[in-house]
Amino acid sequence: MSEDVSRVSPSRLATYATCPRKYEYDKEWSVESPEESRRYLDRGLAYHGAIEDTCAWATDQPESPTDDEIQTYAHEAIERRWDEHADRDEYASDAQFAYDRQVAIAGVDAYFAAAGLEHARNSVEQEGWLTCDRGDVHLRGRVDNIVRTDEGLQIIDYKGSLSGIVSGRTHNRIEAHHAGEEYHASILKSVFQAATYIEGAKATEHYEPGMDIEFTFYGVLYNVDRTPGHDGISVEVTGKSRDVGWIYEAHEDTIWSLIDDCYTGIVDGEFTPEPWEEIHENACGDCSYQGMCGDYIGAEVSLDD
Ligand code: SF4
Repeated sequence: MSEDVSRVSPSRLATYATCPRKYEYDKEWSVESPEESRRYLDRGLAYHGAIEDTCAWATDQPESPTDDEIQTYAHEAIERRWDEHADRDEYASDAQFAYDRQVAIAGVDAYFAAAGLEHARNSVEQEGWLTCDRGDVHLRGRVDNIVRTDEGLQIIDYKGSLSGIVSGRTHNRIEAHHAGEEYHASILKSVFQAATYIEGAKATEHYEPGMDIEFTFYGVLYNVDRTPGHDGISVEVTGKSRDVGWIYEAHEDTIWSLIDDCYTGIVDGEFTPEPWEEIHENACGDCSYQGMCGDYIGAEVSLDD
């Protein structure tokens, strides 16, 4: 494929699906969102880094490591990664900083007390780039973990929570959004990721024809219980996984039609916010570009007239 082909990530497609103008500010002009906080980004970098380090280490060992060895390594990895990524200046107090550190460590410990053990032993690639070409659409994205399973491959994307991820309850919204009957851009990122990674995995050396490919979101900090005690707050964290491969299969044609529309708009430089009524009603309220956005300000002024 020629070098000048534009590859677009699922996250960029999702921003475009939410509002083309937002995409323009964010990706074309790189205008920094004024309310962007580093705090949650850094916590995410810390637990992503610890999981990556642990899986890479486990698969590098000449003999399969024991549960205990994996857990000890993971615990040290999250402490090390926390020190590397977290910044005390982003926090209002020492107590808040210590609390977030405790949550990140408990999340990684909990993951490697459960599903993470098998994921670490069977990981074949961490933080790898996957590319996917379908017709005129060229996508590229970075996956957190690819794991070999009895059936084939499992691609895992780690999140803090599972909020905004498509589910058995919300998957029919993909069709309603595509038909223009309802606006559900918030779940599209997860289905665009599923499409890019499932198809992208088929182009890797790990794939063999006939393999089953599962795509799983894993909420590392899915549930956090806080218990106040004499020595401060203790936290207990439970993770949760959600497989979405079946949702991709059930809505494959619709998902690719949505991807095609967003990709074409991006490549053609078409950033008019359409459908305007739906975007104005559903996306502008949470948008950090509101104060500088001509479309939004223009609409508000005419409403005030
Ligand atoms: S304020 Fe509304 S129209 Fe403007 S970029 Fe944000 S979502 Fe789009």
